[in-house]
Amino acid sequence: MEHRPDLHLRDRARNGVQDTQMRQAIQKAVDRLSSNKAKAAQELGNWDAWREQGKRIRKHTIENLDYYLAQLAENVRKSGGFVHFVPTAAEARQVVLDICKKHNAKMVIKSKSMVSEEIHLNPALEHAGIEAVETDLAEYILQLAGEPPSHIIVPAIHKNRRQIAELFSKVAGHPVESDTPSLTAFARKILRKKFLTADVGITGCNFAVAQTGSVTLVTNEGNARLTTSLPKVLISIMGMERIVPTFEDLEVLLTLLPRSATGQKLTSYVSVINKTRNVDEKDGAKEFHLLILDNGRSRMLEDDEFRQALHCIRCGACFNVCPVYRQIGGHAYASVYGGPIGSVITPLLLNDLDFWGELAYASSLCAACSSSCPVKIPLHDLLLALRHRRAEAGYTPFLEKTAFNLWRRFFKLPAAYKFAMKMASIGQKPFVTNGFIKAGPPPLSNWTNSRYFPALPGETFRDRWREKQ
Ligand code: SF4
Repeated sequence: MEHRPDLHLRDRARNGVQDTQMRQAIQKAVDRLSSNKAKAAQELGNWDAWREQGKRIRKHTIENLDYYLAQLAENVRKSGGFVHFVPTAAEARQVVLDICKKHNAKMVIKSKSMVSEEIHLNPALEHAGIEAVETDLAEYILQLAGEPPSHIIVPAIHKNRRQIAELFSKVAGHPVESDTPSLTAFARKILRKKFLTADVGITGCNFAVAQTGSVTLVTNEGNARLTTSLPKVLISIMGMERIVPTFEDLEVLLTLLPRSATGQKLTSYVSVINKTRNVDEKDGAKEFHLLILDNGRSRMLEDDEFRQALHCIRCGACFNVCPVYRQIGGHAYASVYGGPIGSVITPLLLNDLDFWGELAYASSLCAACSSSCPVKIPLHDLLLALRHRRAEAGYTPFLEKTAFNLWRRFFKLPAAYKFAMKMASIGQKPFVTNGFIKAGPPPLSNWTNSRYFPALPGETFRDRWREKQ
């Protein structure tokens, strides 16, 4: 499916629904992730108590964010690192470019970082003549394909092995087999050389620990370890909410995160970066920079209704259970943060209820997302609240507003309502087969193109009520 952030949600969703290969790949993957998660949660026991504890930690941290950010910055500086508070994406890009220029960097290696996607870092680096190489396997695949991630945990979830083999074959100049060992061996061979020659390493941050000034990275491929230990300069970029007060709190969130994300008890690698390299050490960065990004988060922090969206620990569990995500795929959201949580935070981060506020409608409000969230964010309530806010701001389409106004009038006038129902019941007759409208005229065809519409019954509730009387 083509990535088209310029289209409206309705058109992006239509494109997604028509991409059968993508839908099959996603459905297979999210089914596996969801069942792994259910098993891991059951094995741990007391899952709801763990979730409650996670919620408490996130709530406390976000309510005292100014205190913990100051503590984090102080401890990073004490360990010899540099801290940059960056208000916008543009300023974040500029800080990274300045550091790279200061060190005359020609190539940077990156471990997976959604926040670097949020600030559009790669195009800025390339524009400045600096090669940016993604080292997470899925991110590397997407970089070759020229596509953005479609899931926050499994960025290339929409691709199958055959498509990946085709991409790798183009780079190799000869056919690469599509079995997993061949694909990973090929990526490893290419990326090893990049690790050894890169000037700067760039990472995201799963959680920064305020108590010690540590940056924690949770990965399965070991690429974050190479990214943080081989280049002489290391830059970590974090959203300002990605912080925990202490290692005890980190333990709770690291119990919830991998289980919710992939069903693992622990990811293969949990790296904690505490300080720059000692003089007698052979590896590790000599210079460390931590970028703490705002980019709309302060606005969310001030908003009593939506502050809790900052509790998110980016586990992706809400994507995996969302019936809408399964059908339309991640690119239909057109935001780096898709799925239910992306539908909430994208309009808020971008401060745009008009175009991006449409994402609040990419939900059936079934509440599966809220039930799956390890820190108990009531996502479906937030999506509904966002719809209210958008409607109050006057962004409801004219046709929808008119339709609901007419509906309200019919409800107020029993005779008019009855008449309208009678007319609709007669008018639908040419389209009804076995109690369903299978191919309706526009605008009903928007519905019947993908599913049947139940026909109005010949006898209304009012008729039956009168008969019973
Ligand atoms: S909202 Fe909850 S379930 Fe969704 S990614 Fe964030 S923490 Fe995970």
